[in-house]
Amino acid sequence: MTDAPVVTRFAPSPTGYLHIGGARTALFNWLYARGRGGKFLLRIEDTDRARSTPEATQAIFRGLTWLGLDWDGDAVSQAERHGRHAEVARELLARGQAYKCFSTQDEITAAREQAKAEGRSTQFRSPWRDADPADHPDAPYVIRIRAPLEGTTVVADRVQGDVSVRNDQLDDMILLRSDGTPTYMLAVVVDDHDMGVTHVIRGDDHLNNAARQMLVYEAMGWDVPVWAHIPLIHGPDGKKLSKRHGALGVDEYQAMGFPAAAVRNYLARLGWSHGDDEFFTDAQAKAWFDLDGIGKAAARFDMKKLEH
Ligand code: GLU
Repeated sequence: MTDAPVVTRFAPSPTGYLHIGGARTALFNWLYARGRGGKFLLRIEDTDRARSTPEATQAIFRGLTWLGLDWDGDAVSQAERHGRHAEVARELLARGQAYKCFSTQDEITAAREQAKAEGRSTQFRSPWRDADPADHPDAPYVIRIRAPLEGTTVVADRVQGDVSVRNDQLDDMILLRSDGTPTYMLAVVVDDHDMGVTHVIRGDDHLNNAARQMLVYEAMGWDVPVWAHIPLIHGPDGKKLSKRHGALGVDEYQAMGFPAAAVRNYLARLGWSHGDDEFFTDAQAKAWFDLDGIGKAAARFDMKKLEH
């Protein structure tokens, strides 16, 4: 899509220890960038003040360092960039790509209930979307994006293929809350753009977000990054990975005495393969890793495979 040098990032929310799912995402981003002479950046998504802790941030740093996943430059704190996020929301407002919405939570709930009772879509359409600014009350408001009502948004994903979403299914999402804080959807796009991220490689639980995030890229006239949404990791029984499937924290493997290289090799093969090769050196992993080798099915985590 672009000949610019590759820039990837790992953007964890510091709400707990670094688990193998996050570590695999970091590893894929690191391998992709390092194999192409690109940059691998780290952004701590600490916007959720109630759930983010400095201890979790430190655990992420420690886990990545133990695995040898070095990042370029200083880790970016998303919370420290709130001023910039708000600036972009105001710019979209000034361009008419966003609008002030004065609907209260009670009004939104009532509108949804009425739509449900009438068998209509419960998607909230703000009555303020086309209001004349002269009619704006002197009251708290949120800033919402003006999503297109027609057409489709296509997420051209390197793992999932083209994923189309009808624009009328995308609501006018909130960019800036009434207390002036940005939403995650706005922050992630502004940060990825400002950090020059060319490839967003992350869990496919974010696939639905990508279509919404594209609206912000398009409204700002920014280049959309290459998307690669990787299937989540399941346990050997095919169920969502949980503690009963074994140790999930990277620090637990360290404590059990596993060599970092073995854990990294194992993580690389969770959802990615290179022929029948089971073990590879760092140089081989960097040279071989490609988005096309990532499977569409959920990866199976099996601790026994790591133990042997
Ligand atoms: N902070 C998000 C998470 O930990 C990731 C966001 C992203 O990669 O775009 O799930």
